[in-house]
Amino acid sequence: MSAELIDGKQIAADVRERVAAAVSVFEAKTSETPGLAVVLVGEDPASQVYVRNKGLATVKAGMRSIEKRLPASASEEEVVSLVRALNADNSVDGILVQLPLPSHIDANRVINEIDPSKDVDGLTEASAGRLLLGKQGLVPCTPQGSVILAKTVRKDLGGLNAVVIGRSILVGKPLSLLLLAENCTVTMAHSRTSNLADVCRQADILCAAVGCPKMIKGDWVKPGAIVIDVGINRIEEDGKSRLVGDVDFDAAVERAGAITPVPGGVGPMTIACLLRNTVIAAARRRGLADPEL
Ligand code: NDP
Repeated sequence: MSAELIDGKQIAADVRERVAAAVSVFEAKTSETPGLAVVLVGEDPASQVYVRNKGLATVKAGMRSIEKRLPASASEEEVVSLVRALNADNSVDGILVQLPLPSHIDANRVINEIDPSKDVDGLTEASAGRLLLGKQGLVPCTPQGSVILAKTVRKDLGGLNAVVIGRSILVGKPLSLLLLAENCTVTMAHSRTSNLADVCRQADILCAAVGCPKMIKGDWVKPGAIVIDVGINRIEEDGKSRLVGDVDFDAAVERAGAITPVPGGVGPMTIACLLRNTVIAAARRRGLADPEL
């Protein structure tokens, strides 16, 4: 039997719609419009596309997009000064520094300059610490999107065995903590995990964030499991270039209960959750209750 497809495109569109509605409520209460500032250093073509898409999505959700560009030759101090100026600007609710930064700049230092109340990417040490401690904070977008997708299949994930493959700061670790907060029993797997296939077969929720095309085989999937494939890998197949996930989709779809496709699964959720974090940050910074999202 084929699994239910988790339609990330549609679910992301629903999140964006709820964000737009929350922006209207926010404006009615405060007569202000939430603002998201994106800092781009250099001319990396892929980063330029990401920044443009984020800007368009921000405006479409009814918020202000503030784009700050610096040349690739900018010094670390210049980038830090820009972040500090955005921290001090009360009309800015969210700050995102587009990565990667040029190699002469310490990305960690720059990221950690962001005021945690405006850290809509959830990448500062303060945000990571809050997530670990179970305190209110802003949560990284891709892991948050992954959990939202899993919860469209099953509202209460409590008690389920979750296996997260990958332990990066960006995806694997925060995703594991979010699933723990949902009361899952979480196993964090990585490149040194023994018997990975057997570990995966225990998973009611199997999340792959590795960066290895089709690494997770169909028979690693427990029948009926929820499979969240975070991986985005470009491969050449039959003379064509295409995107695939970390999961061997064609085989896994025959065993899973529900599965995200690549593309069209987790990918679209990342920007949607960035917008979501921005309206949440705007509300919290003014002492308002979290918006209904
Ligand atoms: P990283 O390279 O930072 O981390 C990869 C993780 O996978 C590491 O923890 C590594 O383990 C683990 N790993 C590598 N090889 C194996 C293996 N053979 N068996 C088990 N574990 C392994 O990647 P990211 O977390 O940044 O990204 C992961 C994937 O998610 C990528 O495909 C990326 O493109 C995608 N991605 C998608 C996003 C989206 O919007 N959908 C956003 C961000 C990322 P170890 O720690 O032991 O080295």
